Amino acid sequence: MARPIRATIHLSALRSNLGVARRAAPQARPLAVIKANAYGHGLLRAAEALRDAEGFAVLDLDDAVRLRQAGHTCRILLLEGFFDPLELPEFSERALTAVVHSLEQVAMLEGTRLPSRIDAFVKVNTGMNRLGLTPDSLRDALQRLQASRNTGEITLMTHFANADDPRGIEWQLEIFRRAGAGLGLPVSTSNSAALLRYPDRTQGWSRPGIMLYGASPFPEQSAVELGLLPAMTLQSRIIAVQNLQPGDVVGYGGAFTAERRTRIGVVACGYADGYPRHAPSGTPVLVNGRRTRTVGRVSMDMLCVDLTHLPDADVGSTAVLWGEGMPVEEVAAAAGTVSYELLCALAPRVPVVELQ
Ligand SMILES: *Cc1c(COP(=O)(O)O)cnc(C)c1O
Repeated sequence: MARPIRATIHLSALRSNLGVARRAAPQARPLAVIKANAYGHGLLRAAEALRDAEGFAVLDLDDAVRLRQAGHTCRILLLEGFFDPLELPEFSERALTAVVHSLEQVAMLEGTRLPSRIDAFVKVNTGMNRLGLTPDSLRDALQRLQASRNTGEITLMTHFANADDPRGIEWQLEIFRRAGAGLGLPVSTSNSAALLRYPDRTQGWSRPGIMLYGASPFPEQSAVELGLLPAMTLQSRIIAVQNLQPGDVVGYGGAFTAERRTRIGVVACGYADGYPRHAPSGTPVLVNGRRTRTVGRVSMDMLCVDLTHLPDADVGSTAVLWGEGMPVEEVAAAAGTVSYELLCALAPRVPVVELQ
């Protein structure tokens, strides 16, 4: 028998969640964001399940090439564009679309000679101050790009910093509108949170990521309420049971002390599988379909759960760490992080089971 941990990926959930994105903003064309190995779900696996999307967005040129080699002919957007002029011929030959977010990239495009033109998503910094041209430098950059024989279709793009919180997107959208006024260029603005919360503001190419994997981008609204289905279920089994007396402790550092007689289950899942080590005692886990909580520190290959109120649970019982029946957002919140980080961290050593 192999170690009992596995991640089940529900391809039907990916398809269904793309349907939610389409129905929320039918006027927009979704570019499915499949960066970071499709948020841990597997690049080519997710791309195949999401092939009805108008295109894909990734970060690494290698990933874009793998998608082309797998036969995907749709638009593929590289979210940070190119880093070096040496990459440009590959963009051109593979018909990849580049985010152009800096004057350095504009100069790289001007200074080369390509077999065919590259489509550009020109990114405007509307206040997030991460990537993007300032509104002041935009017109000049656009003129240079339009004059270059290497630039094809131009789309204006920006990214929202507060789509999931009370500050919202209107303040950035206003800057974006002013920057692009009168240019008549196609646009791309919305991530999952903006698409779901401001569907009427979602025009052109949308860029849904987290929602496709079935996690809610909002702290106050669950995935179920949004009609999203979890695509990844991380599950394992209990491989040992310990009966503690009051005063007994659990795991490294004895971080948990039993106050009464306590039955502990040891689950074959640890931080080397991608479970967050910083998840404190009390983080929710599903055992045999019933909720319980972690106790003590998460170790490399194991974590412990309280079985005191689950007398039927024993060695061999199933433990769902996140996914079906145990929202990944809830586990993430208990661990002081976001669902994105947990999904992306799924370790290569965890076997994946694909379900249609
Ligand atoms: C990651 C990313 C997205 C997707 O964001 P979600 O919150 O996962 O929907 C969209 N746009 C850009 C520029 C990104 O980097």
